[in-house]
Amino acid sequence: MISNKNVSKVYKMGELELDVIKNLNLEIRYGEFIAIVGPSGSGKSTVLNLLGCLDKPTRGQILIDETDVTKLDTTALANFRGENIGFIFQSFNLIPVLSVYENIEYPLIMIQNLPQAQRHERIMKLLKEVDMLDQKEKFPDQLSGGQRQRVAIARALVTNPKIVFADEPTANLDTKTSNQIITLMRNIQKEFNTTFIFATHDEKIVTAADRIITLVDGEIIDDKRVQS
Ligand code: ADP
Ligand code: MG
Repeated sequence: MISNKNVSKVYKMGELELDVIKNLNLEIRYGEFIAIVGPSGSGKSTVLNLLGCLDKPTRGQILIDETDVTKLDTTALANFRGENIGFIFQSFNLIPVLSVYENIEYPLIMIQNLPQAQRHERIMKLLKEVDMLDQKEKFPDQLSGGQRQRVAIARALVTNPKIVFADEPTANLDTKTSNQIITLMRNIQKEFNTTFIFATHDEKIVTAADRIITLVDGEIIDDKRVQS
């Protein structure tokens, strides 16, 4: 479903060229729960941003289903991302002036032709799924870190994306809360066959993953499937 061929990313810093991702070749199937691990600066976030259509590679091809997303212009890419991809970040990235309900509703603005009743139904279902129904009128600064990340998970899932990218989603959470968040994502993966791709240092996520990809200096040095 996601297949990328010879993907490279070069950052130009004045005269200097930084090869951040070197010839990445990767096949990812629906429903996989993947941890991308590696030292800080190895390119994990860059890989997520490239596969998640937040950034474009310098060279190479990224196919998501049949679409070569590197060929899409900015508007088409934003639409594609809105319909197919969800993102979860380390620092939650909720919109402070919107309520919990409105934060989850926000990505649906991108999706045309979804009747109001169906929007409401989806948001309510996800509020239940992440156990935040009784907090739906609150604002992000009234929530704990774990609650904020649960809202962010609901927001990432409300468009029924095929793929969810999560960049260090538990880095700002304590162990107990991290475990709850990981269990929640695992359950969602099992229930909806959603693909999850993590960049992480968290052993708890690595243990839960069914595939572990190790990145060093922008290259895959290990890619293994494991029983989780
Ligand atoms: P990780 O997530 O594994 O810590 P990143 O993908 O954030 O790694 O970064 C990989 C490398 O790319 C690092 O050396 C970082 O400094 C560099 N880098 C990331 N973003 C930029 C940018 N916008 N401009 C220049 N260099 C960047
Ligand atoms: Mg990173």
